[in-house]
Amino acid sequence: MSNLHPAEQIQSCDSPVEESCIEVFSLSERELNPGLHVHRALPQRSRRRVGAWCFLDYFDQAGGGTGMNVPPHPHIGLQTVSWLLDGNILHRDSLGSEQRIRPGELNLMTAGHGIAHSEESLGDARLRGLQLWTALPLGEHNRPPGFVHHADLPSFRSGVMQGTVFIGTLEGVTSPAVVYSPLLGADLRARHSGNFSLDVDPGFEYAVLPLDGRMQVDGQPAHPDHLYYLGTGRRRLAGWADADARLLLIGGLPLDEQFVLWWNFVAHDNREIEQAREDWVHGRRFGTVEGYPGEALRAPPLTAGLKPS
Ligand code: MN
Repeated sequence: MSNLHPAEQIQSCDSPVEESCIEVFSLSERELNPGLHVHRALPQRSRRRVGAWCFLDYFDQAGGGTGMNVPPHPHIGLQTVSWLLDGNILHRDSLGSEQRIRPGELNLMTAGHGIAHSEESLGDARLRGLQLWTALPLGEHNRPPGFVHHADLPSFRSGVMQGTVFIGTLEGVTSPAVVYSPLLGADLRARHSGNFSLDVDPGFEYAVLPLDGRMQVDGQPAHPDHLYYLGTGRRRLAGWADADARLLLIGGLPLDEQFVLWWNFVAHDNREIEQAREDWVHGRRFGTVEGYPGEALRAPPLTAGLKPS
């Protein structure tokens, strides 16, 4: 059998592999506020999730800009995971939480049945970070909302790599954060240039988002502004990193469920989405974010043909 269109062949990691499967995705970029650039890594058209991770934005604004200012808005059916690389953000929510987050700290908000929150950057230093969502599986998606701040997270050293584990377990250290399906989220940095090899769970699927510096995964160069999906079946994540190279590693048990993502909602069917929108429009369910200096966000019109994926 001959491959007639080798240039069009795109590697797919849908069956378990040993060590070598990589799908490469470009991040799409938009400007949220003047100077605040948001790069979307998940969802991708052909790769909606990595485990329960269903949304991943990388944002970056040089110092002196207008910063981030996201008025109160609702969420259902997910957890938000906020992880900063530079700068500070103030979180407020409808449970009465008011929490500053700094680099190295985790803000974990469980939306469940419904919560509203706002986010404002503090100061005018460079602001850089990651916003992730996990989809709550059936049986957990309607749970009561909650918010937890974790200032002390475990870290490890393994060869040239040092890492902070903010969700799940890696290299024998475990985050105290509570999630509702098996997941991993870790911020890895090379202390000096060299090869690395980390033990990972073959039952998980994984992806790498390079953040800074030069690195290789499976001997292939990996660049910022791209997401590298690594499939399942791996026992090791191996590669090379230059001194101070930094990457995000996410992983999780693949979820055999379909989800609908619309605006800030994650659900299992369109009816749940429509009901959540109605409730926000009519001031029900989500409560009020106290202390935010301004109006809440309005729900956009419903998109025709919402589809589970
Ligand atoms: Mn939000």
